[in-house]
Amino acid sequence: MPVVFVGHGSPMNAIEDNDFNRQWRALGQRLPKPRAVLCVSAHWETRGARVTGASHPITIHDFYGFPKALFDVRYPAPGDPKLAHRVEQLLGGHKHAQVDATRGYDHGMWSVLRVMYPDADVPVVQLGIDTSQPGEHHYQLAKALAPLRDEGVLVLGSGNIVHNLAQWDPRNPHPLDWAQHFDSAVKRRISHREHIELVDWPRLGADARLAIPTPEHYLPLLYVLALQRDDDHVHFFNEAVSSAISMTSVALEPGAAHAGRAS
Ligand code: ZN
Repeated sequence: MPVVFVGHGSPMNAIEDNDFNRQWRALGQRLPKPRAVLCVSAHWETRGARVTGASHPITIHDFYGFPKALFDVRYPAPGDPKLAHRVEQLLGGHKHAQVDATRGYDHGMWSVLRVMYPDADVPVVQLGIDTSQPGEHHYQLAKALAPLRDEGVLVLGSGNIVHNLAQWDPRNPHPLDWAQHFDSAVKRRISHREHIELVDWPRLGADARLAIPTPEHYLPLLYVLALQRDDDHVHFFNEAVSSAISMTSVALEPGAAHAGRAS
């Protein structure tokens, strides 16, 4: 299976029809249909790794000030308790990762997956991220998930490479200089597989500090990069920066036998 990082941006991308989610829909149609999805979302911050274990997780509306239509969304994709326990085992057992049988789906997951898989027929497990841990911790943890790619599981990171709400101005979507620079720098390093630099992002300087004021939207990218294999084709999509948020997304796909844009 491929591995994919999606820049999710506004929760409204779940229900609007726009250029971003048109790409999500196309991606769901183009990729091989997974047996299940393991989603690493910016919107489940935990202490220690946590895995959703319910058979039918509820839909969580973890935002404020949006239209009722967004609060009415339910994403009824089943959970996959067997996969949840497989993930727990891969991450080193109960001491290192714990299954949470009550946690529901957050919008970092369902805003993207309800567009990719509108029939909600692909089971989903979410992995919560311990944001008190440095990038290296997450990158190494994610490496343990490598066998899932051979088991029909799509690992999907959902966040944003640049995510600074304090600097974000919805009235002026023109990209801020530092946001554009950082987004381009990250893309360049992904293209050259320079993961060490991306894992240790605090050393990337002032642009990185502005782009990643808190790490939760950036960390899902590291899970995806950690699962890169030598023969993966790197396919960027939704390469856009709006004010202080980047929608840049990347799919790492086995072989290069499709017509996607090479980068
Ligand atoms: Zn978000």
